[in-house]
Amino acid sequence: MSEILVTLENVKAPQAKMHKDAAAQFVQLREVVKKGAGFDFLAVCGDIFRDAGFVSSKDGVANRSWHKTGRAIDYNQDESRLVIVSEVIGGKQFFRTYLKTNNPKLGEHRRVKDYRGFYVSENLFDFTAEAFVCGFERIPAWNGWQRNYNRREFWHYQFVPKGLSWDAAMLQLRGKVRNQSQTVLGLNDRGENVKELQRQLNRKGLLPAKEIDGVFGVKTLAAVKEFQKRSGLIADGIFGEKTRELLGK
Ligand SMILES: [Zn+2]
Repeated sequence: MSEILVTLENVKAPQAKMHKDAAAQFVQLREVVKKGAGFDFLAVCGDIFRDAGFVSSKDGVANRSWHKTGRAIDYNQDESRLVIVSEVIGGKQFFRTYLKTNNPKLGEHRRVKDYRGFYVSENLFDFTAEAFVCGFERIPAWNGWQRNYNRREFWHYQFVPKGLSWDAAMLQLRGKVRNQSQTVLGLNDRGENVKELQRQLNRKGLLPAKEIDGVFGVKTLAAVKEFQKRSGLIADGIFGEKTRELLGK
């Protein structure tokens, strides 16, 4: 059996490990960046893997973070060739990362405004665009990012296949999901799967009909826990294999 969590070769980070699928994408991205920007930007990273029990009191650090699933990286924010440009999409604050190539043959000549207020006019490599190509996505900055550096998140990229919930990813990592095609649902998950779960909870009289909205919030969580308690399961509020089986009856 192959390990699900693999070590990233020659990467300097506190814990340079990722889920094997994400690791493969990381290796690909690292190569593209190395060629396109002219230096091995991803050889040094900030946080990559975080232990499941990791709790931070630091502002902006999510306890249900994708770092714990082995699917997220924080790149090296101390890199001097970084150019960070503000991008507001759908009312959310994102940032685009460019890397100065210091080479007229690499990147594209652009004039951009760094979010710190100064303009840069030189050959730049679009790191964000290449990360997208490799299946990584960025996350928006948290509210209050202007005053609090830790909330900016421009350094954070994650590889999360469509439909994969955080809880499912955590269970995958622990090797606890036998059938990986089955969705495990938990707090903050959204979508049709959540709606179906809510309908089932409603049929059992555990959730009012007006709460069937496709958002796994605190009321759905309480209903799942109540069902688990009644069924003699561990009331962890995670809709996994056993809970699904019993609720479907
Ligand atoms: Zn991060």
